[in-house]
Amino acid sequence: MAEDSSRHYENRFPDFANSNSADVINSGTYSLSENFKESLEQNIHTFIRRLNENQQEWVNRNDSSVYTGSSGIAYLFYFYGQRFNEPTYMDRALELMECAGSNKNDKKSITFLTGEAGRLALSALIHHSSGNVEKSHEIITRLKSLYDFSAMYYYEELLYGRAGYLYSLLFVNKNISEGLIDEELIKKVINCILTTGKNYSTSRCLKIPLMYSWHEKEYLGGAHGIAGILYILLQARAYLTEAQLNDEIKPSIDYLITLRFPSKNFPSSIGNKADRLVHWCHGAPSMTMLFTLAFKVFKDEKYLDVAKECGEVVWRRGLLKKGCGICHGTSGNAYTFLNLYQETQDVKYLYRAAKFAEWCFNYEEHQNRIPDRPFSLFEGLGGIVYFFVDLSTPSTAKFPGYTL
Ligand SMILES: [Zn+2]
Repeated sequence: MAEDSSRHYENRFPDFANSNSADVINSGTYSLSENFKESLEQNIHTFIRRLNENQQEWVNRNDSSVYTGSSGIAYLFYFYGQRFNEPTYMDRALELMECAGSNKNDKKSITFLTGEAGRLALSALIHHSSGNVEKSHEIITRLKSLYDFSAMYYYEELLYGRAGYLYSLLFVNKNISEGLIDEELIKKVINCILTTGKNYSTSRCLKIPLMYSWHEKEYLGGAHGIAGILYILLQARAYLTEAQLNDEIKPSIDYLITLRFPSKNFPSSIGNKADRLVHWCHGAPSMTMLFTLAFKVFKDEKYLDVAKECGEVVWRRGLLKKGCGICHGTSGNAYTFLNLYQETQDVKYLYRAAKFAEWCFNYEEHQNRIPDRPFSLFEGLGGIVYFFVDLSTPSTAKFPGYTL
């Protein structure tokens, strides 16, 4: 169970102290310093230019997903266009979504990150923002009709399963208008997810009320595991009964705490004894968001303590050799600190997020291999820029496809 130190660079940044943090934190206001904000913005514009210059590399008609395809870049352009008030980017987001619509390859998946539901949910949002409400509603009808297909689904996890469909429905209500997706549909999806979890746990005589398997492993992390499922369910708590929340979800979260390594990192799956991965997809980073939300919902300090301990793991082991992407890279790990900053208002976390961003400014030097999709939202440059844009207003930052 020894920690594997071969997957990350040693973090040589000094930790936050008033005396040594003036390069990124303004000691008077406890916010990002003007200098840092300037270099952040400079890097955002440089990297957006780089994405544009390499358009041939990422315009791939065989992948329209948010995760690695054109919808992910559209999401970034939309986000960037809104933040910097650049209508050209909103238009380009719309164009990309139109092209993505002609792709048939993702139709077999119903999730936000890898499938049709994400493309439809995003497309509905972007059309709505551009004023085409009628088209947006027509797309939402298609999104809702995916339920029949989702009901036949076998997996529940976020990346390829039903939790990813639930996220897409919640995304529409949150970002376009509450009530566009009716309560009844959302509850039906939730009930499917909970039933699978209960049945699986009972069939294996597990002590945890809910458990899921993917490719015959009981994964724990954000992308494939129970943490991702529980986090989406907890964000959908307005649709849960008290019993679902208190007798199924809460004890499942409690049980997760008992599975931690001595380092306070989480295994990637039950029984996996290798303390190796500190990524959003596997390990402590995505657990942070689950446990800060559990603290908010159940008002028990023990959850916040777990989240803070995740933060320490990520600070020590989060500068990844795999690179700086969102899914299994340094920019994704930095969301740990943004989440803790939002919850605690402790400037130490803002400082840490800024230091991870500084590391990502030189992302090409800080990776031992080039990702398979080097410009994509979840593996490549797209995600790094998305994180930089989010960091420019840290109190509203949200891990894309995970935090609503
Ligand atoms: Zn990953």
